[in-house]
Amino acid sequence: MNDLSQQRRELMTALHAMAEADLSPGASGNMSLRLPNGGMLISASGVRGNEATLESLVEISSEGTCTPGQAKPSSEWLMHHQVYQDHPEAAAIVHCHSPFATVLACQRRAIPSFHYMVAVAGGVDIPCADYATFGSAELAENVSLALHRRKACLLANHGQLCIAQTINKALSLAQEVEALAANYYFSLQNGGPTLLSNGEMEKVLQQFRHYGQQ
Ligand SMILES: [Zn+2]
Repeated sequence: MNDLSQQRRELMTALHAMAEADLSPGASGNMSLRLPNGGMLISASGVRGNEATLESLVEISSEGTCTPGQAKPSSEWLMHHQVYQDHPEAAAIVHCHSPFATVLACQRRAIPSFHYMVAVAGGVDIPCADYATFGSAELAENVSLALHRRKACLLANHGQLCIAQTINKALSLAQEVEALAANYYFSLQNGGPTLLSNGEMEKVLQQFRHYGQQ
C-alpha cells in the first residue's frame, strides 16, 4: 500500500470515528491530513462523516489547486490550507460543530483556565477566533491567528478546530475540547468557576511538555 492510499484510509477511518463520536451534526465538520508533497487530503463537501469513502476524499496541492475529476472539497478547505501554511507543526486538522464548543463559540467566549486540562490545547486558554463567513479567506485568517501558540480554538458563531501531529490526536483533542466546553458551560450556570492562575497553568504546561502529553 503506498503512502497516499494509507493516508486516505486513515482519514476515512477518522471521519467515521468523528461521526461515531457524535462530534458534528449532519454533514458539518471536516478533516484533513498534510501530504508529504506539501498539499493536503481533505473530506468532501456535503458528505456525512459516516458516509465518507476513499473516493470521496479530495487532494489539494500546496498552491491550493484541486486536480479535476475529484469530488468537491469541503467548503472550508481554505481554512485548512491557511492553517497548514502558517503552522508547520500541524500535520492533521479536525474541524467540527460539536454542541458545547459551539454554544460557547456563539457567545464568542474563549475557554479560560477553569480546569488544568485546558493546557492540552497548548496554553492558558482556548481562544475564540473572530467571526467571518464560513469558507471565506477572512475566516481562514482569523482561525490561523487564533492558533498562535495553540493547538485548538473556537470559531465565533460556528464551532471548533484542532491541529495535531496525527489525525487520531487531532480527533482526541476535539473530544477533549468538547468535554471542557461542557464542563465550563455547566460551571457558568452554577456561579462560575474559580480560575487557575497563570503560574499554576505554567506548571501543568511544563508537566505536559515533560510527559509528552500534548
Ligand atoms: Zn464549519
